Amino acid sequence: MNVQQIQKIGVIGAGQMGNGIAQVCAAVQLDVLMYDISQTALEKGLVTIGSSLDRLIKKSVITEEDKKSILSRVKTTTQMGDLKNSDFIIEAATEKVDLKLKIFKELDAIVKPEAILATNTSSISITQIAAVTIRPTQVVGMHFMNPVPLMKLVEGIKGLQTSSETFALTKQLSEKLGKVFVESVKDMPGFIVNRILMPMINEAVYTLHEGIASVESIDQAMQLGTNQPMGPLTLADFIGLDTCLAIMNVLHEGLGDSKYRPCPLLVKYVEAGWLGRKSGRGFYNYAK
Ligand code: NAD
Repeated sequence: MNVQQIQKIGVIGAGQMGNGIAQVCAAVQLDVLMYDISQTALEKGLVTIGSSLDRLIKKSVITEEDKKSILSRVKTTTQMGDLKNSDFIIEAATEKVDLKLKIFKELDAIVKPEAILATNTSSISITQIAAVTIRPTQVVGMHFMNPVPLMKLVEGIKGLQTSSETFALTKQLSEKLGKVFVESVKDMPGFIVNRILMPMINEAVYTLHEGIASVESIDQAMQLGTNQPMGPLTLADFIGLDTCLAIMNVLHEGLGDSKYRPCPLLVKYVEAGWLGRKSGRGFYNYAK
């Protein structure tokens, strides 16, 4: 398969990442089928794409006509079987190992033999995911950043079994979507970005947990002191605290070093359902 032959994209999960991935694919004339187990998530996903496109219209990046045609290319379903004709599938469901293994096993049995199965996982082993399929050479890590329409990076992760052809095709597709593809040549927990970013966020939560400074002070200090566009706790709220915790657990278990242990306060917030922006409350309150 070459990149021109990739016409039908399947997206699994309509959450923050899934709907962004659907949007950028539809924006380059690809047909997108977005699948989620939750009809509400699909509807919410479409609304988010609409609002994101409205912002691009306001900035004169696209026209009303473009918005209509992009939206017309995104279809939704709650049936995984509908993905059977997809050429390239990008999985962006919740960051849980067992869930991803189950999805890939089922997906593998449904889609055509030549289809590529990519995962947007932030930290889970591509090698482990590939191993539950009968097409391990066609499984690859394709890690988009949040928010997908704005962030330039796609981190490409080659599982142990991923073929060079699959990896090259994933790079070409990423570039077609207007992204820069950076290769993580070893499939190790957290890859590049989250191996470095998550321990920093976790340390910011420890700084709060130990009463060293307030949420606002931690963010302001890091923003002004290290020239980051937003502080680590604001960023954690954007990412989702459940996702941050899941990634820390993967780093902790996968690398076996206590320096990656998740901060107990992060665990508590997730237990409380304070997941960040997506749930209306995290380190900040978004109820308004
Ligand atoms: P999210 O919570 O916003 O969305 C997850 C979606 O998956 C939900 O809509 C949920 O209904 C759906 N889902 C759950 N089980 C499913 C199943 N069995 N089949 C289909 N859909 C299912 O999460 P998110 O932030 O979009 O993260 C999704 C993935 O992207 C995770 O692997 C995460 O690690 C990764 N990721 C997240 C970020 C980020 O900043 N949030 C960045 C890069 C990668």
